[in-house]
Amino acid sequence: MTTTHCPYCALQCAMHLEPGPGGALAARPADFPTNRGGLCRKGWTSAEMLGVVDRLRRPLLRKDREDDFAEVDWDTALDYVADRLTDLRAAHGPEAVSVFGSGGLTNEKSYLLGKFARLALGTSQIDYNGRFCMSSAAAASTRAFGLDRGMPFPLTDLGEAEVVLLAGANPAETMPPMMAHLAAPRLIVVDPRCSATARQALAGGGMHLAPRPGTDLALALGLLHTARTANLLDTGYIAQRTTGFAQAWRAAAAWWPEQTEHVTGVPAHQVRAAAHMLGKAKGAYVLTGRGTEQHAKGTDSVSAWINLALGLGLPGRVGSGYGCITGQGNGQGGREHGQKADQLPGYRRIDDPAAREHIARVWGVEADTLPGPGRSAFELLDALGTEGGPSAMLLFGSNPVVSAPDAGRVRDRLADLDLLVVADFVLSESAAMADVVFPVAQWAEEGGTMTNLEGRVLRRRAAAAPPAGVRTDLEVLHGLATRLGQPAQRFPTDPDAVLAELRAASAGAPADYSGITPERLEAGEELHWPVTEGQAPTPRLFLDGFAHPDGRARFIPVQYRPAAETPDADYPLIATTGRLMGHYQSGAQTRRIPELAQAEPEAYLEIHPDTAARNGLTEGDWAQLTSRRGTTTARVRLRPDARRDTVFLPFHYAGAQTANNLTNPVLDPTSRMPEFKVSAIRVEPATTAQQGGHL
Ligand code: SF4
Repeated sequence: MTTTHCPYCALQCAMHLEPGPGGALAARPADFPTNRGGLCRKGWTSAEMLGVVDRLRRPLLRKDREDDFAEVDWDTALDYVADRLTDLRAAHGPEAVSVFGSGGLTNEKSYLLGKFARLALGTSQIDYNGRFCMSSAAAASTRAFGLDRGMPFPLTDLGEAEVVLLAGANPAETMPPMMAHLAAPRLIVVDPRCSATARQALAGGGMHLAPRPGTDLALALGLLHTARTANLLDTGYIAQRTTGFAQAWRAAAAWWPEQTEHVTGVPAHQVRAAAHMLGKAKGAYVLTGRGTEQHAKGTDSVSAWINLALGLGLPGRVGSGYGCITGQGNGQGGREHGQKADQLPGYRRIDDPAAREHIARVWGVEADTLPGPGRSAFELLDALGTEGGPSAMLLFGSNPVVSAPDAGRVRDRLADLDLLVVADFVLSESAAMADVVFPVAQWAEEGGTMTNLEGRVLRRRAAAAPPAGVRTDLEVLHGLATRLGQPAQRFPTDPDAVLAELRAASAGAPADYSGITPERLEAGEELHWPVTEGQAPTPRLFLDGFAHPDGRARFIPVQYRPAAETPDADYPLIATTGRLMGHYQSGAQTRRIPELAQAEPEAYLEIHPDTAARNGLTEGDWAQLTSRRGTTTARVRLRPDARRDTVFLPFHYAGAQTANNLTNPVLDPTSRMPEFKVSAIRVEPATTAQQGGHL
């Protein structure tokens, strides 16, 4: 039996993997502080991924995209890719080659991928799909607190609170074991959709506030306004532990509950009731999720929620606080160790001369040889194959053909590349477009570390050897780097050796892992970063002061502005997207698990019965949705509790059911987060031919 952690979301539930009937590994829940012996449906079935029928076992190569793939040996595939990369760099310079990573990669892979891009390829063109997840919350936390650790407190603290406000998060569906921590507090759920979490909130004496999509920022301003006019703010805390309240208040001063209702649609009496419930609680938390973050004003929206939390005196105290519910499995660690365009390991900035000197020393190179910042995720994808953009991309652990915004445009950009190389364990939709596919190991076939949503570093353990013919991502990077002229020892294949280097690289940085060793992890220590050598870990941050030089948190004055698209005569409805319990991200993994695929086999559309009737639709029909960017189809589910102006659809499906065909890639100016959550659309019955494409 091997004890490890789930391959999917950032809760990183602990599980035992042991042989089941027939000898195949099966997952069983393990007792652990975050999951307390629970697993969701995805976790229970996760071991089935190790035996999926279309598992890749040999590298695939084709020299012409019109051709079928041929299976080749590893040397042939690695030599081909290294030669093509060398030729493209020689012809167009190092910026012609690019790398795209993932918030699902281990800390060691994230670290080595960034090093590979900067040293072996010499390119600044690296970013990752985590940009599409937590980047707005990360940016807002950094500017408010001086540091971004999604939850700066253990998850187990939540159960002690009287009230928890969840803005744009649906953990009852996306991470069900987390709900055990939310059983005691009353919940205030902010979500345009009456989600499973919203229903639990109502059943438990809490509230559901359903703002028009794209208006959360106004709702947060309205709650701050109400809290102040009702004398609910903690003026002593504001004076002693923060700066900038006066400016933030000026931005909130006009947001009377009635004005808030006018913009958000949330009744004024609900705004008042929510402010009182939160403001009078003895212990309270404000938590944000993708619903409030994935907007072109996502950073400011999160800042507005943090301003509310600061006004009530919550962050930096035991029993209360602000946190972001990170989504991807290593969404926290993946954003710390150098696969972001603007970052070096340890959460160091790539444009900080001291950070560059430190990392260059660890890597044994001159600091001025390190490239500067590159393009953010969507900007990078959108530049592929264009004049001045990269003509090659190496893709690790990501499936942007399904998961990126304006997915049709991203497909076109990938198709225009001279070289697309994908490392994956199955032929995902993005891998199917590649020139070369490297078959790589899965989570339970290799070791490493992950950092969960509380900033706790976890040991991922191998429970089985990879199938013959399969290599790890670290081995792929080693194979390519050495062929590109790098010394072999610079790209270790042993995860513990990479961790040792990561510890040195992160020493003294905001995300300091220098004290995190395999021995401490094996001993079961609870290691929330920062963990410096010989020092105790830090489960609760900010108790003695925030990470700004003066120790004070910053109120950030933020102004409401509408979504980039608002409904009009041609596109009269708003589409918003989200996750289902049975699927994960692009679905490349979960759509291959029979139990999960049968439970949710096709995309669906939640729509109010009146809206459906106005558009000629009824329960079970196939609907076609069209935005300015593209179309998708989904099966109609009538929901009397839905907003009449908004439809919801999940984003886990591929082909003509790709919800991201609709989504708007307009970007947040700070985080470069796309506006996934608000697309103006129209909806109509799908034609028979369209239906045939999906069944
Ligand atoms: Fe895995 Fe997340 Fe489900 Fe836990 S909640 S079993 S980590 S998918």
